[in-house]
Amino acid sequence: MSLDLPATLSGASGCRTAPVLKERGQREVFCGLTGIIWLHRKMQDAFFLVVGSRTCAHLLQAAAGVMIFAEPRFGTAILEEKDLAGLADANAELDREVARLLSRRPDIKQLFLVGSCPSEVIKLDLARAAERLSGLHAPHVRVYNYSGSGIETTFTQGEDACLAAMVPTLAGTTARELLVVGALPDVVEDQCLALLAALGIGPVRMLPARRSADLPAVGANTVFALVQPFLGDTHAALTRRGARHLAAPFPFGEQGTTAWLRAIATEFGISDDVFDRVTAAPRARALKAIAAQSVELQGKSVFFFPDSQLEIPLARFLARECGMTPIEVGTPYLHDALHGPDLDLLPSGPTISEGQDVEKQLDRQRAARPDLTICGLGLANPLEAQGFTTKWAIELVFTPVHFYEQAGDLAGLFSRPLRRKALLQAGAQA
Ligand code: SF4
Repeated sequence: MSLDLPATLSGASGCRTAPVLKERGQREVFCGLTGIIWLHRKMQDAFFLVVGSRTCAHLLQAAAGVMIFAEPRFGTAILEEKDLAGLADANAELDREVARLLSRRPDIKQLFLVGSCPSEVIKLDLARAAERLSGLHAPHVRVYNYSGSGIETTFTQGEDACLAAMVPTLAGTTARELLVVGALPDVVEDQCLALLAALGIGPVRMLPARRSADLPAVGANTVFALVQPFLGDTHAALTRRGARHLAAPFPFGEQGTTAWLRAIATEFGISDDVFDRVTAAPRARALKAIAAQSVELQGKSVFFFPDSQLEIPLARFLARECGMTPIEVGTPYLHDALHGPDLDLLPSGPTISEGQDVEKQLDRQRAARPDLTICGLGLANPLEAQGFTTKWAIELVFTPVHFYEQAGDLAGLFSRPLRRKALLQAGAQA
């Protein structure tokens, strides 16, 4: 068993105090509406109604892929030209559409009105609409509102905005409870809960909950741990409710998962013996799986374009557990309270950049010639055509990658493009 101390404590220096290259310019990112794709699967009695244009509807269809044929619990109330002329009409129309939707889908218990660029530009007051509709449809349905617009949110920030909108409405409690925050696929959530239960930690609540009846309560004795690094606003909203954040690296890879669990175990006074007994077997499995998947990654360089805010913990995982050298780690936003523990563990060296000026960043990427480039769909194929090996960042959000049992799969997501490139080259030479 090795002692896993933050790099700064073990003598090596991390990236927490490294200068950050801040850029503001043209961006190549999704808007926050995309969060609906995974949130609607997680919250089984929720419906997400985007109030937007045909562009928004097309984006959701494109991002959801085949899911749109499975009677998904999301849709778009498309603003027509006449809605733009008079806001009163737009509100009446929205009330009508919502009433029709709720009568058709009585299983819906939570309705999210999701703002978009068009609804924001015409200043449609969705917060007021949510209040009005909540009154009309209470107690059967609770109506929330948040913005997923491209003006306000980037990709995974949509989940942050959604969860932050729920926090003020959660019931109060004085119980000392652990709240785990961030949407995880059900199978991964079950693994997380099983590990915490085996450690003797409980009761544990989840935000988001699978069903509205299981929504957590929150108060001054709540401690919360985040499983996603993009939940800055939710962190702030929970803190305002008196809850306390347990700062920890995110549970990616064997080291990240161990450090995350360790922070919670320490808070709840769990002994080292119990901790080691519970984690020894899954840690060993994770290490073996990572070793098998990371052969191609050892000694290779990696360049992250900003996309999901997962970049810093993933760069930490690739550097420390897969032997990669990060050249640049771009993130759309950098929150010290959230990303700090991972920055501590990220070996010094890479440029840490926040925001984007895509042309300048492409120049740096071309000059650095990384072995692997992590980027969005819009950049991936053009870069492949220039001879670079790329990994689509969106897959990292849609694929189960947290905790011990997924650590090998996580490494595999990065090694697969390198393996494929090697196979294609070998085939071309044969
Ligand atoms: S919310 Fe804005 S950025 Fe997103 S699809 Fe609609 S118009 Fe485009």
